[in-house]
Amino acid sequence: MGILDLLFPKKCVACKKFGAYICDKCFSYLSFDIKSLCLVCNRPSVNGLTHPGCSGKYTVDGCFSALPYNKTAKKLIFSFKYKPYLTDLSKVLSDLFYEGLIQNEGFNRELQNSNSWFFVPIPLYSSKLKKRGYNQAEILAKELGKRLNLETQNLLKRVKNTKTQVGLKVEERKTNIKGAFSIIHNSKFIIQNVMLVDDVVTTGSTLLECANVLKRNGAKRVIGLTLARD
Ligand SMILES: [Zn+2]
Ligand SMILES: [Zn+2]
Repeated sequence: MGILDLLFPKKCVACKKFGAYICDKCFSYLSFDIKSLCLVCNRPSVNGLTHPGCSGKYTVDGCFSALPYNKTAKKLIFSFKYKPYLTDLSKVLSDLFYEGLIQNEGFNRELQNSNSWFFVPIPLYSSKLKKRGYNQAEILAKELGKRLNLETQNLLKRVKNTKTQVGLKVEERKTNIKGAFSIIHNSKFIIQNVMLVDDVVTTGSTLLECANVLKRNGAKRVIGLTLARD
């Protein structure tokens, strides 16, 4: 046991039992049983791809998530956003993220269809990033990248300090997030196929908006990847 374990003894983030950041019992409440939905119409779709009829020139092509956003997943992700838990939880959560994704046939097919994928994390607004000290989506993207041997690029920036999407209706979310992102130009870099990485997807308005920006800037295929699906 290290000195840090004595100062900050490990506790389960869900039930507070001492010993590990997630105890065996709470771990068993997590599931990989995710509903595959089209991000545009929120109706079931094969493997989480956007329906051909819902798709347009600048629409996200699909979205894959690892875990349903249940009570335990919620607690894990909430704790991940606060520093003392960061290092240990990033490993636990990235393993879950990876395991959930590789079980998805659609995700594997996307990986095999192209060798030019890279990960782009959904950015935080500058003041929020400063306050938190890190972007949780970027950490997840980089950890996934290590496991899948893919590069992470910060290609988007948040140009509008939007109010939280929590509690907003679908249409309000779309309006709130519109124009919130722009591309970070890098002349040496040609955008091709992007997997957008975020911690949670709810209505998909953030992923749709980011995919729109990326496709307007030359991206061919854009897929959303989230640790949890609400
Ligand atoms: Zn527990
Ligand atoms: Zn649809």
